[in-house]
Amino acid sequence: MSNQDTIATNLARIRDRIAEAAARANRPAGSVTLVAVSKTHGPEAVAAALAAGQAVFGENRVQEAAGKFPALQAAHPALRLRLIGALQTNKAREAVRLADVIESLDRPRLALALAAAMAQEGRRPGLLVQVNTGEEPQKSGIPRAAAADFLRACREEHGLPVQGLMCIPPVDQDPVPHFRFLAELAARQGLAVLSMGMSADFEAAIACGATHVRVGSAIFGARGQG
Ligand SMILES: *Cc1c(COP(=O)(O)O)cnc(C)c1O
Repeated sequence: MSNQDTIATNLARIRDRIAEAAARANRPAGSVTLVAVSKTHGPEAVAAALAAGQAVFGENRVQEAAGKFPALQAAHPALRLRLIGALQTNKAREAVRLADVIESLDRPRLALALAAAMAQEGRRPGLLVQVNTGEEPQKSGIPRAAAADFLRACREEHGLPVQGLMCIPPVDQDPVPHFRFLAELAARQGLAVLSMGMSADFEAAIACGATHVRVGSAIFGARGQG
């Protein structure tokens, strides 16, 4: 099979598994959006996924996305790009120009930088607040205990378009308690969007209420370092 056929086949399988997981949770299939994480894969991989009907993509680095996506965005008006990786404040403007949604709002300085960038660019991508549900020191994300205050500041002080929450559970733990924590926090905060679940655990995330699952390797194959 060509790489293009492999990507189309993988996408079809993931879509089936999403529909089945949603059905098991008594949720409509359309309530879960598949975000195809194309980081480290070239524009031809994204083009293959587009040809197979995939419209929503995730990238974790602004520089890489800036090199890959503008031409694809121009050619495919339905394409939606979500930035899912740690974002430096000096990349905030470029992120605001490129992205439809930024999923990694994780600290007060970035909230300020994004508010300024949105004013300068006249563009308001949706935002998700990333929560460090595992309280891992090396991982980005706002700590659990600080999340409510941070959300209030983002929404009320900075007027940011916060749509929901995102998390990446610790690799060595059962993700379900992390997914449940995030879902409960979103419900308390009146936030509709829950980005959680990756190739290894997206079905568990759907059972816990994920509205967006971020799947990379199960669609595009294994990555090198990325
Ligand atoms: C790479 C990445 C993913 C996709 O991971 P896979 O295990 O390849 O599905 C999801 N979310 C984030 C934040 C990532 O960086």
